[in-house]
Amino acid sequence: MTQKRLNSDESDDGGPIKRIPIAEPCLGAAELDNVTKAVESGWISSAGSFVAEFEEAFSRYCGVEFGVATSSGTTALHLALVALGIHEDHEVLVPSLTFAATANAVVYTGAKPVFVDSHSDYWCLDPEKLEDAVTGRTRAVIPVHLYGHPCDMDAILSIAEKHGLLVIEDAAEAHGADYKGRKAGSFGRISCFSFYGNKIITTGEGGMCLTSDVAVAERMRILRDHGMAPNRRYWHDMVGFNYRMTNLQAAIGVAQVARLDEFLVQKRSIWQYYSANLADLEEDGLLALPHPQPWAAQSYWLYTVLIRGGIGRDELIKSLANRGIETRPAFQPLHLMSPYGGGQVLPIAEELARTGLSLPSSIQLSEEELAVVVDGLRSLLY
Ligand SMILES: *Cc1c(COP(=O)(O)O)cnc(C)c1O
Repeated sequence: MTQKRLNSDESDDGGPIKRIPIAEPCLGAAELDNVTKAVESGWISSAGSFVAEFEEAFSRYCGVEFGVATSSGTTALHLALVALGIHEDHEVLVPSLTFAATANAVVYTGAKPVFVDSHSDYWCLDPEKLEDAVTGRTRAVIPVHLYGHPCDMDAILSIAEKHGLLVIEDAAEAHGADYKGRKAGSFGRISCFSFYGNKIITTGEGGMCLTSDVAVAERMRILRDHGMAPNRRYWHDMVGFNYRMTNLQAAIGVAQVARLDEFLVQKRSIWQYYSANLADLEEDGLLALPHPQPWAAQSYWLYTVLIRGGIGRDELIKSLANRGIETRPAFQPLHLMSPYGGGQVLPIAEELARTGLSLPSSIQLSEEELAVVVDGLRSLLY
């Protein structure tokens, strides 16, 4: 079962043009079957059995003891920060180049996000720039495995240990990625995933916190469910939230986890296709291609290049869109935005944001469609 791919744009000859999507969910018979089971059972709220099954399956996949499913990746991040006691007296280190949710979750707690520049080779938070940002108020760091490339976790963990910082991984783009043979999401005190519709596996909306700390897991379960005391109904020892995932979402999640490795194989072949077929554009100085670090096995979430020559990045996005090719600019650096920033200069993040372009990376793309993307780039950049 595939998504409808036609949009309402008209091509020159008047017919609808086929859109090549950047990312789309891959849903099939197993997902439908599980949703049907959930509906037939009458259990569609968070009390259904798929929720625990999804938590177990995904945490086991990542090699972490406990999973706490949530309503989104953003609520997973917020839940993690609250469960670890982050509050308004604290600073939390985050990369500037990430999706805003990473910093928003920090702001929700009253703590201050402090931005760190990116590594120019693999775009994640640069461990060498981390230490300079530590102050007496710094309590935690949130490394983000950006576009599915893992952060340098050994370096980050050793700086965190030296300064007594909590590590919370934002692995929203990194399902199945690994660092030196261990899964992304298995390094932090807590790690947070998103299952939004454009992520590698999806539940529509949804998220999960993973931890191997039983007390932290228990605290997150309580906070997720209004802060209600586990053994005393309608008694609240803390102010909680309703961040629960529904059984319908988890029903889809259970089917998706089982297919994650298969998705990663397809993602890798898209990656290899682009890398092989765009190599000459890199040699000619028009593009910089992503080159993974030797310690990284990526999730290949979005194939993201830097535009070095020819027409500018934003012009290129428009021209590709006219050909039915959906691309997206890199994230914007958060330190430049008024709700978060103030006067910082982080040159690497700014340069990556100015020139970064993500190409269609949906696992359902055919080789013909990938060829259309490559030809489009070739003809517009030369
Ligand atoms: C998608 C994403 C999130 C937020 O996830 P939602 O499920 O959309 O709330 C957080 N961080 C990063 C890096 C993301 O890509």
